[in-house]
Amino acid sequence: MLIDNYNEVRKNIDEAAVRAGRKPEDITLIAVSKTKPLSDIEELRAAGVMEFGENKPQELRDKFDNISAPVHFHQIGHLQTNKVKYVINRAVLIHSLDSIKLAEAIEKEAEKNDKVAEVLIEVNFAEEDSKFGITRETAIPFIKEVAEKFPHIKIKGLMTIAPFVDDPEENRPVFRGMKQLLLDIISENIDNVDMNVLSMGMTNDYIVAVEEGATMVRVGTAIFGERNYNI
Ligand SMILES: *Cc1c(COP(=O)(O)O)cnc(C)c1O
Repeated sequence: MLIDNYNEVRKNIDEAAVRAGRKPEDITLIAVSKTKPLSDIEELRAAGVMEFGENKPQELRDKFDNISAPVHFHQIGHLQTNKVKYVINRAVLIHSLDSIKLAEAIEKEAEKNDKVAEVLIEVNFAEEDSKFGITRETAIPFIKEVAEKFPHIKIKGLMTIAPFVDDPEENRPVFRGMKQLLLDIISENIDNVDMNVLSMGMTNDYIVAVEEGATMVRVGTAIFGERNYNI
């Protein structure tokens, strides 16, 4: 049963938190349900799981619109400006703000819907060409600009997708660096910016991420099994 996998991941998170002197309840587990059927989400929902992550805006929209009992969906994947409309009223949090162009699109849709969109800033910490996200160096000016220009956007923290590595220990410096970046931003005291959320860690490395300060981990494979992209 999926809930057994979920509980196993949750237990690992709680143990890692205690090891690091943190409170387990400070870490949210997001079950990444991308490519998986609605019935998988509903199975976990029936067991009390509320937080789910989706990569594709249309998939998030379709699942949101068809689910039998409401859950919280997080938009965790890259977001194109023309797809903001699908998630603005459906995602509790957009994890992937990475350009002023996207911020403009979110601002416009949020204003139209008379709401304030909660977002995380995606940081490409390791500066991999294959990944989206702003660089460490541009994070502070970027956040200042978004906070100043866009009243319908509320920044809640940072997100990163760490490199794909065999040994999760290799990502420890990335997670530690993200936590430091979060602290550096907090010390800037930017108006209209909260820096409480640090979204990092996936199936391969979430335990290390929790030890280094993650407040949200996004775990798919360890809960739902391998994904098949050819369907
Ligand atoms: C797919 C995905 C995850 C989950 O990946 P797993 O390795 O299956 O745990 C987490 N974050 C993002 C942004 C993803 O796209």
